[in-house]
Amino acid sequence: MTLKFVHILGVPFVHTNQKDFIATLEERIDKQEKTFVVTANPEIVMHSLKDQPYKKLLAKATYITADGIGIVKAAAIIGEPLPERVSGYDVMLDLLESANKTHARVFFLGASEAVLQATVKKAKTDYPGIKVVGSQNGFFDWNDHQLPQQIQNMKPDIVFVALGFPRQEQWIGTHIDQFDKGVFIGIGGSFDVFSGSVKRAPEMWQKMNLEWFYRLVKQPSRWKRMLVLPKFAATVIGRKAFRKG
Ligand code: UDP
Repeated sequence: MTLKFVHILGVPFVHTNQKDFIATLEERIDKQEKTFVVTANPEIVMHSLKDQPYKKLLAKATYITADGIGIVKAAAIIGEPLPERVSGYDVMLDLLESANKTHARVFFLGASEAVLQATVKKAKTDYPGIKVVGSQNGFFDWNDHQLPQQIQNMKPDIVFVALGFPRQEQWIGTHIDQFDKGVFIGIGGSFDVFSGSVKRAPEMWQKMNLEWFYRLVKQPSRWKRMLVLPKFAATVIGRKAFRKG
């Protein structure tokens, strides 16, 4: 399946919706095509503008999806609309659903040991058809090269990498060349939500595109990270005006 891309501040976002994107990933899993997925929000885009090594890692991604209403809005502003959000959490749930049917091999990487264990337990209960081939919490020694080797030996079809941004892209981007197959996807704090340690915004809030606000209210310590949103909007609008002027 050939997909179109929309560039937002130099980051190529895949022009797709949730359903088609999952179908694309299923096809790649079936063909054992190695895939690196970044689910990017405005924070990631802004970080890529000032961090060249990080931008180079993003360039290794097979697909970058619009995780965050800010990206969808930005695409509309520049006149190249994206169909909808394709969030890391939703992709994780749909991939688990699909793995349940195909008995795919799944590896879980990231979060605290307690959250990871709860995630694995719930995944095995809710999706009994999946094969959990391994798991590792997100607080390991980065210089220990055994982990990528261990994952390669397990031959997973899907590796969920929940190390938060920018660590998950750094980890996948650094090691992706060592793997033969598998969908490697960075999914931020998804294990915390999946295991019930952190609540996702109620559906109403999600529908009103206020999920970011809900997270801010629940975790006020995130306010500093939110400051990037107006900067992102200003940069997108500024570049658009400059192009037209
Ligand atoms: N985390 C991790 N290793 C680290 C730092 C963080 O596994 O060295 C985990 C953390 O436990 C949490 C997730 O990464 O589950 C980060 O979640 P957050 O909501 O902050 O994701 P972000 O929005 O940063 O992508």
